[in-house]
Amino acid sequence: MTAPRIEINLKKIRHNARHLVQRLSRRSVRVTGVTKAVCGHPEIAQAMLDGGVSELADARIENIERIRQSGIKCPMSLIRTPMQSQAGRVIKGCDTSFNTELDVIQMLSKSAQHMNTRHNVVLMVEMGDLREGIQPDDLKGFVRDVLITPNITLKGIGANFACLNSIVPDHKTMIELSNLINNLEAECDLLLEMVSGGNSANLPWAFNCKYVGRINNLRLGESILLGVDPITGARIDGLFTDAFTIFAEVIETKVKPERNCWRMDGSKSSAIHVVIDNSKAMQSILAIGYQDTDIEGLSLPINISFIGATSDHMILDTGAVSLAIGAEVKLRPNYSALMRAMSAPNIKKVVHNRRRLPKDNAALQLTPNLTLI
Ligand SMILES: *Cc1c(COP(=O)(O)O)cnc(C)c1O
Repeated sequence: MTAPRIEINLKKIRHNARHLVQRLSRRSVRVTGVTKAVCGHPEIAQAMLDGGVSELADARIENIERIRQSGIKCPMSLIRTPMQSQAGRVIKGCDTSFNTELDVIQMLSKSAQHMNTRHNVVLMVEMGDLREGIQPDDLKGFVRDVLITPNITLKGIGANFACLNSIVPDHKTMIELSNLINNLEAECDLLLEMVSGGNSANLPWAFNCKYVGRINNLRLGESILLGVDPITGARIDGLFTDAFTIFAEVIETKVKPERNCWRMDGSKSSAIHVVIDNSKAMQSILAIGYQDTDIEGLSLPINISFIGATSDHMILDTGAVSLAIGAEVKLRPNYSALMRAMSAPNIKKVVHNRRRLPKDNAALQLTPNLTLI
């Protein structure tokens, strides 16, 4: 089989989505499936929908267009503030975009008027992560401006946590967000359809808090795809962590005579000592490198350890084991390795447990006289 490749088990992604959707529905929280780590791969997007997510979201319009081209018709949101230069494409491809700048919303309004349609916006409010967001003090004025913008509907308010700074969304912060929503609604005389409380980092809060307050939506990517808590890296109960596997091929296996390397000797003193490592371990090279993925984000099989990597090589210490030339090594990607592998043209995507996409169904309907034999 072609290497390097990433094998994708859609059944496990469906299961993870369904498990999270059901667990959160007990708390009246709906799930938006986030596809940015898989570059808007349409079959993975469909697997999230099959698992029951109520809508999809991505950070890039190109990925959303890719999903639309597969015939998927569910509600879709752009969760990165749109570029003004892409306003027209955003109106065409998405029902909703997440926003923090009035200038951008004005441009979206112009495009929506031009196309004689309406567009929903969710306003992101800054709650401590210090990435995107309107300062809470500025929110009321901002909302009033949005409410009078032609062809724009204010759908809701969102917040984001633990992306730029590892601020874990705790109970206190989430109560603050709920209070902010209650005040805003009272003062601006409105009722928001969506309060999107955050991402996979919010799950410990959502599962354990006494009440979720006004939050009725979470945007989940990493937890559905990789089954882990993004802050701790720990597996979330009931989820698969092995929906994705990368396979790379061995292109060299040799005993290297001597490996001299610079190492800290582990003592507490600040001086660095040179340690000559005379071990003669078996060393293999895999045909995969930084150009393909985040090599440090790959977990190796037991008894194999990582020596180093370059743009096109990954070098492994295999101890006493000698890997045959042409053999394949299984690697498990973390979020950053997954994201880069899914966007790398040289990594083949192999999908298991597929189901038909809407566009395939449409193609079948167009040829009603076709008989399968
Ligand atoms: C990436 C992203 C998400 C999803 O985050 P995960 O940790 O993968 O669940 C949600 N919201 C925004 C704004 C994002 O950029």
